[in-house]
Amino acid sequence: MDSIMEAKKITVFSGAGISTESNLPDFRSRNGLWTNNKSFESLISLSFFRRNPIGFWKAYKEIFAMKLLNQYEPNRGHLFITDLQNKGKDVTVITQNIDGLHGKAGTKKVFEVHGTLKTAECPKCGTTYDLDYINEHETPRCTAVLKNNKLCHFILKPDVVLFGDSIHYFNDSIEAAYQSDLFMVMGSSLEVGPINSIPQLISATEIPMVLINKEHTKYDHLFDLCIYAGIGQTVEQVKKAL
Ligand SMILES: [Zn+2]
Repeated sequence: MDSIMEAKKITVFSGAGISTESNLPDFRSRNGLWTNNKSFESLISLSFFRRNPIGFWKAYKEIFAMKLLNQYEPNRGHLFITDLQNKGKDVTVITQNIDGLHGKAGTKKVFEVHGTLKTAECPKCGTTYDLDYINEHETPRCTAVLKNNKLCHFILKPDVVLFGDSIHYFNDSIEAAYQSDLFMVMGSSLEVGPINSIPQLISATEIPMVLINKEHTKYDHLFDLCIYAGIGQTVEQVKKAL
């Protein structure tokens, strides 16, 4: 754990495993949705949104239990990362999660590469809407007034990266990872591409790499240290050692 103490620029790569202690459902491992369920993949897709935005919003809200989203709180894992930042380390989080919990925990530099459940945007005029607005309307529409004095009224698109969308901040994430002096994976089984190519790129450098995950991954051999345990209990141990 000396590497955490000595590191000045830390990149954390986080996945669903960091949010399980917040009791958030893991959409991917629960029922294997992200990986196996074809109907899920076709519902949470750009083509379905374009074809049937009203049906899309209905399915989207059910699948992600949108009404419950505000009740989830960051846990020891998220707060540990914020703590490193507040102790003066330059911390960047690359997260696959769409729950917004890193931001809620106070971490400032967060690349949400798969987007966020917390907001939606008007595809026509670009106005952004928050979760309350999304939850208040069965099919959320834009309320902006356009130049011609007409209501925009376009159906919003969620800021989650849909199947068929490209991921966000890919190049920024790679750049941040290359500039760090510690690369730490927390709670990701590294199965989802293309973002799982980042640890592969970093393994070709001298940057120390640590993995904390409950299960083995197929990229374990890339890491200098692998800890197979829950995030919460691991960060408690690390805090004692720091
Ligand atoms: Zn609009």
